[in-house]
Formats: sequence, C-alpha cells, structure tokens
Amino acid sequence: MLARTHDLAAITALAAVATVVSVPEMTLSTLLIALLANQIGGIAPDIDQPTAPFWRNLPVGHILGKVVDRFLGGHRFLSHSLLGVALFAFLTKLLLAFIHPLMPKVDNQIVWWAFVIGMLSHLVMDTITKEGVPWLLPIPFKFGVPPTKALRITTGHVVEKAVIFPVLLATDIWLVHTNYPAILAYVHHLQR
Ligand SMILES: [Zn+2]
Repeated sequence: MLARTHDLAAITALAAVATVVSVPEMTLSTLLIALLANQIGGIAPDIDQPTAPFWRNLPVGHILGKVVDRFLGGHRFLSHSLLGVALFAFLTKLLLAFIHPLMPKVDNQIVWWAFVIGMLSHLVMDTITKEGVPWLLPIPFKFGVPPTKALRITTGHVVEKAVIFPVLLATDIWLVHTNYPAILAYVHHLQR
C-alpha cells in the first residue's frame, strides 16, 4: 500500500474506534499529539523498507534505512507482525514516558492507543495486497485476504488509487456525517 493510503486508513481506523468506545475527555494537545501518533503508527511498519518516504526525508536516511531493514529481517517481516506491533508499542510506551515531562498535559494512554490503532490499520491494509502479512511471526506464513493471491491488490496500482482510497475517504465522510453532533459537542468540551 502507498503511504497516503496508510495515512488515510490510520485516521479512518481511529475514527471508527472513537465511534464505538466512550472516548475520555482530553486536552487539545492530547488530541493533536494523538493524531500525529496515529499517522506515525500508520506508516511505522514500512520502516523495514529502505526506500520508504520516512527514510527518504532524513539526511542519511538511505543508510539508516538499510540498517533498520537488516535488523527487522527485511520488508514485510517483523514490523508487519503482531510481535512487531507489541515491540513497537512497548518502545512507544517507553518513549512517551520519557518525553512526558516536556508535555505534561498530554494523556500518554490516549496517544499510545492512537499509535497502536494506526499500526494495526497498516497490517490490515497490507493483508489485502498480493504480498500478504506475516501476522503470526515467528510462524513464517504470510496471510492474505482473499486467500487467492491473484484476487488481491497490487500496491500503487489502479485498484488502490481508484477503489481503496476513495472507499476510505467515503468511510471518513460517512463517519463524520453520522457522528457530527457528537463530534461538535466533543470538540466544544476539549479541556485546556
Ligand atoms: Zn507495509
């Protein structure tokens, strides 16, 4: 999947979860940092790809990307599994605890969940691509939906751009539309 599809999928997953759980009141900074964490989570698994946009935007990114790629076992390996999600989630928890003194008004728990939801959405989206996802590593089997590889989509091809992306966008619009009064009330009550 392309990075922008993953970005949109991450926010869609976050919005969908927010409609079914009772979201606690939070500060505006928590909301903004949570959205950022969600987007980072949405593309985090692809740091196992030296050519990922994330690495391309860093000065020595191509070298770092290759090192991380080796460490994570290559593309669509550790970072594309539940084990990888647990590892990244753990590291994110440590990082959030470490930087908490800098952002005392930010609710780390909410930010952490937003990150994890973003990361899980990435795995779900990659599952419908031809390569599949090794969800249950160390069991080295790549799962795909539908099981027949030929019916799955190819990253960056027309189906992703003309069907998947618009469907995600439509889902977001629908979610906002059907929950509009709740969203307005919620934003109105954001804490300082
Ligand atoms: Zn991926």
